[in-house]
Amino acid sequence: MAVSAYPCRDADREARSVRCAGARPRALVRAVAAGSPADDAGFEPGCYVTSVGGLPVRDLIDWRWLTADDAVELGYVDLDGDAGTVELVREPGEEWGFEFDGVVFDGVRQCRNACTFCFMRQLPDGARPSLTLRDDDYRLSFLSGTFVTFTNLDADDEARIVEQRISPLRCSLHASDPDVRRDMIGRHAQHGIDALERLLEAGIEFHAQIVLVPGQNDGAVLVDTLEWAYARPGILDVCIVPLGFTKHQNAFDRSFDSSEAARAVIDLVEPYRRRALAERGSMWAFPADEFYARAFGPALLDNLPSAETYGDFGMFEDGVGIIRSFVDDWRAAEDAGSVERAARALRAAGARIRYVTGEATLHFLEPLVAQSPLSGLFEPLFVKNDYFGGNVDVTGLLCGCDIARAVRALRGSSAGRVRELFVVPRIVFNDDAVTLDDMSLEDMEKRAGAPLYVVSCNASDYLLEIIDLVGRIAQAPDRTNGSYYAR
Ligand code: SF4
Repeated sequence: MAVSAYPCRDADREARSVRCAGARPRALVRAVAAGSPADDAGFEPGCYVTSVGGLPVRDLIDWRWLTADDAVELGYVDLDGDAGTVELVREPGEEWGFEFDGVVFDGVRQCRNACTFCFMRQLPDGARPSLTLRDDDYRLSFLSGTFVTFTNLDADDEARIVEQRISPLRCSLHASDPDVRRDMIGRHAQHGIDALERLLEAGIEFHAQIVLVPGQNDGAVLVDTLEWAYARPGILDVCIVPLGFTKHQNAFDRSFDSSEAARAVIDLVEPYRRRALAERGSMWAFPADEFYARAFGPALLDNLPSAETYGDFGMFEDGVGIIRSFVDDWRAAEDAGSVERAARALRAAGARIRYVTGEATLHFLEPLVAQSPLSGLFEPLFVKNDYFGGNVDVTGLLCGCDIARAVRALRGSSAGRVRELFVVPRIVFNDDAVTLDDMSLEDMEKRAGAPLYVVSCNASDYLLEIIDLVGRIAQAPDRTNGSYYAR
């Protein structure tokens, strides 16, 4: 499954690598480093690598495994479609010089589950195919950090994982109780748990995820699941994320939304964190940021776990520690003087920033700004996610249509007293520079009726970009449209 029950931006790239089952794998060369062994051998973008030492290359793991030596024989197909083999040699420590398109070359493994909470089944009609791709591929788990169920592993897969030490992997655990797990993810649930147990026995390690669904795997079921996981030291840590649901379904209408419900989860997990800290030196169990935001609301900044408790922030992509990281980055920007300098620049230019953000940032971004010199000069524009609806409120899932609507409603509201600058964090765009609803920046600007400026996601970066932006606009005050990408 994709990360955190939400669509993963990597899916856009990997969706292109879905190929016919049974087709002989081949790795499309996207770029070749100048002067590298690949370059010397005549490889060019558009060629394919088809084998190493006569063995197929199914994915990047195979590639790394099979090319560990400093002399290899590669099978290829060139730009004319001609096949052949070539010897490559490199100096010790030298890279081969290939950049491939994607990380799996024989097609992404599809999911065979029927999770009640699957986000991909809750998308609006017309969502682009890469968003509806329901992958469940252990290679992507290792290479890209997606969580998988192991319900589609066969004996060869397990043997390969052990032989190539494909570890740690990320496991969608959800519940240790077989009946609850079956109810949640479908009839192959036990196959996945059995595979997990065998791989643990063989020394493979795991990061586990629990998508917490009210009334299904919370409360006593969660206690049992945490006990089960803690008893297996190969499960390195566990994150607990709340069910995400959209308006395009009718099975769910709540997900630990109240302060009491969110607090109950934190309180239930806390003893495991303390025990793990004492016995293993890390917190081990990590409730996602949403639980803290909902539990503490306006008092969030006073109740957020410290950076130290997040260790290496290994669950960051799953929504664990993002708020702490953002807050600490903002404080660092204050210490470095960037907040003060941005305030001075905006005041001098008679400008005000409207910073597009998801409603999930309300309880930390608003107080940070209000307590800073940017108060009144930098105003978060909390955009309601109407495209997905439900409880989807993070910035990374904002869509172009909602951003454009929010900007359009505000543009010109300052009646000429100050110049409003609408800035959008880059995270709302994928690698192809379109939003989740396939809008480009230019599309959004047209619909919003105002120029939009794309900036980085961290305050320490985007405040410097805003200072630069204000300076540029001061030099070209007549600029009324067009797009500006911060460096
Ligand atoms: S059905 Fe379950 S495992 Fe499959 S993609 Fe959806 S959430 Fe992931």
